[in-house]
Amino acid sequence: MNKAKISEIFQSIQGEGQYLGVKQVFIRFFECNMYCAWCDTPRSTGDEEGHFEEYTSDELWRKISGLWSNCHSISFTGGEPLIQKDFIKAFLPRLKAAWVTSYLETNGVFYQELAELIDDIDIIAMDLKLPSSTKCRPFWEEHKEFLKVARKKEVFTKAVISCDTTREDVLESVELVAGIDPEITYILQPNYFDHENGVVRKCLEYQKDCSNRLKNVRIIPQMHKFLKLR
Ligand code: SF4
Repeated sequence: MNKAKISEIFQSIQGEGQYLGVKQVFIRFFECNMYCAWCDTPRSTGDEEGHFEEYTSDELWRKISGLWSNCHSISFTGGEPLIQKDFIKAFLPRLKAAWVTSYLETNGVFYQELAELIDDIDIIAMDLKLPSSTKCRPFWEEHKEFLKVARKKEVFTKAVISCDTTREDVLESVELVAGIDPEITYILQPNYFDHENGVVRKCLEYQKDCSNRLKNVRIIPQMHKFLKLR
């Protein structure tokens, strides 16, 4: 792939997960293979209006070079960045040669694509898509294969918990992670729009359940919503 379809490029702080608060350059890749019920980046999910710009590798390099000073890392986010695996695979060695840390935010299903670029990725923030939360089909098998590849590098997992999330789904995802490595961090992320509806209490209960199987279970909200940052 010569050009990437990119929805936006900007500098901000990481609003989710284990690296909450670090300064990053975000490259938001266009398109996604899922339609999660609570998606907050609908412009990246393959809408028909086609909100993206095309970048060659050189154009993207020039663009991010002007933004990354004092940043912790470059976040490849979306949408689902691994849909554009060929472009990213060709681009990553440039970052590596410049000693810039790469950070992949992914919905955690394209394991064959991940395997092709795992050598050049530094950190993987992997979502576990619980069907009762997303209203999509289950992805347990894909998640399992993905995590097997991802654990070759630094990886943490994250599941959005909404009012509709079932305990069964949370426990199934925990078993999946524990079966691969109980030391992998698992983050319960209360859905911002459900904070007033008892979802934080649910997360506290789930944290207790999950901690029976995993060593590091945390509750971390989406901070950029509170701070009104993108
Ligand atoms: S995987 Fe992410 S970008 Fe895709 S629909 Fe779900 S929340 Fe939106």
